[in-house]
Amino acid sequence: KSGFVAIIGRPNVGKSTLLNRVVGQKVAIMSDKPQTTRNKIHGVYTTDTAQIVFLDTPGIHKPQSKLGNYMMQVAEGTLNEVDAILFLVDVSEGLGGGDRYIIERLKQVKTPVILVMNKIDKVQPEELLPIIVQYKDLYPFTEIVPISAKQGTSVNILLEQATRYL
Ligand code: GDP
Ligand code: MG
Repeated sequence: KSGFVAIIGRPNVGKSTLLNRVVGQKVAIMSDKPQTTRNKIHGVYTTDTAQIVFLDTPGIHKPQSKLGNYMMQVAEGTLNEVDAILFLVDVSEGLGGGDRYIIERLKQVKTPVILVMNKIDKVQPEELLPIIVQYKDLYPFTEIVPISAKQGTSVNILLEQATRYL
């Protein structure tokens, strides 16, 4: 099995952190500044039975310039070509305008979307369910996987889920 998975989400939700953890090397530029990763960066995850090429997809968030607008078109093109999309959100911040904007864009895309609730290390377990419900009401995500990219919690579960879509 092999295929392509795109990682999307508004700035600072942990896309680069997840990608770095998954491919085991620093391929994406980590920064607290938004939009540092301007290009599609490919990281490859390989096991005995599967190979996933990950794309750290910038530019899906609300455009602030013509360049941003162009990047968003590139991003949407990419999203229609991959086997699955990981939509990362920050559970410690919850559902905001940035996430809503991306969800509207996702409605134009046919690819299955896995909702990845990142930074669970920053919230109490009982806080998770109400946040999940908010997102589920907006879009038919095919899976919902709570993780901590920073601590590595449940990243293996996420990879198993993603492999099912290849
Ligand atoms: P990106 O803009 O989506 O690529 O986000 P980054 O991967 O650059 O992460 C933004 C910030 O969030 C960095 O300071 C990361 O260390 C932090 N971060 C990422 N994942 C987690 C997580 O699971 N838990 C916590 N507490 N912080 C995280
Ligand atoms: Mg990044």
